[in-house]
Amino acid sequence: MKDLEKIAKKQFGQNFLKDEVVLNKIIQSIPNNDLIIAEIGAGLGDLTNKLLELKNDVVAFEVDIDLLGKLEDRFKEALNNKKLMIKFGDVLEYWGDNKNLLQKNYAIVANLPYYIATNIILRALRDDNCKFLIVMVQKEVAEKFCAVSGSSEFSSLAILASYCGTAKILFDVLPSSFVPAPKVISSVMMIKKTKNLDNKEYEQFLKISFSQPRKKLSKNLSARYSKELIEESFEKLNISSNIRPHELPSSTYHQLFILLYKVVHIDERREAKY
Ligand code: SAM
Repeated sequence: MKDLEKIAKKQFGQNFLKDEVVLNKIIQSIPNNDLIIAEIGAGLGDLTNKLLELKNDVVAFEVDIDLLGKLEDRFKEALNNKKLMIKFGDVLEYWGDNKNLLQKNYAIVANLPYYIATNIILRALRDDNCKFLIVMVQKEVAEKFCAVSGSSEFSSLAILASYCGTAKILFDVLPSSFVPAPKVISSVMMIKKTKNLDNKEYEQFLKISFSQPRKKLSKNLSARYSKELIEESFEKLNISSNIRPHELPSSTYHQLFILLYKVVHIDERREAKY
């Protein structure tokens, strides 16, 4: 274990999961289906190994060249009989400008590198081939995706996740389950998708809405929309002018977006015409 602490690279978010109980719990939470599994950040292959006990089609991504040889040695047989494919490089570059990480329907099961976890999850929500995710992330990040409106953690990430389906925390994992131990508690969460994140403007609208989480929602929105339009829309939807971003339910955000978007869109078209 001491050697592992030495080889772990901080810049790649390498905290290797060495707890059999947690590894098994992750595997047990995978729904029964034929989807390909994409593991992002195979590391030393402990989770990969468990995935291969359950699945015949695993694609593992790993950015660290020093781990590639270890993975190839460990999984010679699975690579030969094509149960496993290893893709070397930055997973975000594999996504690149493409919408799809893999060309067939798939699910992500991974202990994500924490420094790009949110980015990876958002890419997966936009990817129509990705059907669900079971991912280990920092507890704080999981709470943001799974929060309900009214709670202080409620954020644009929770609204985006609920737009795509359902998100829930399955269980927490203590730092002692990893080598080296991270400074934070982790959570395994599941996002089941019924729909893709397919509207950049909606994402932008939510970003503006939560730009200053402690301020009033109307104040945040005024960076993009006129005071009159905000007041008029709030009145139509019965929203209090004092409401803070975390207090408005996801469904009302959607209605508010439609109202604001329609008007701004029509205005912008009108301006372009004259
Ligand atoms: N799956 C292993 C486990 O559970 O022990 C390792 C998980 S570790 C938290 C994250 C892994 O992601 C590391 O192996 C790291 O090298 C890899 N990684 C970091 N950034 C990456 C990227 N941009 N693309 C692909 N893999 C990456």
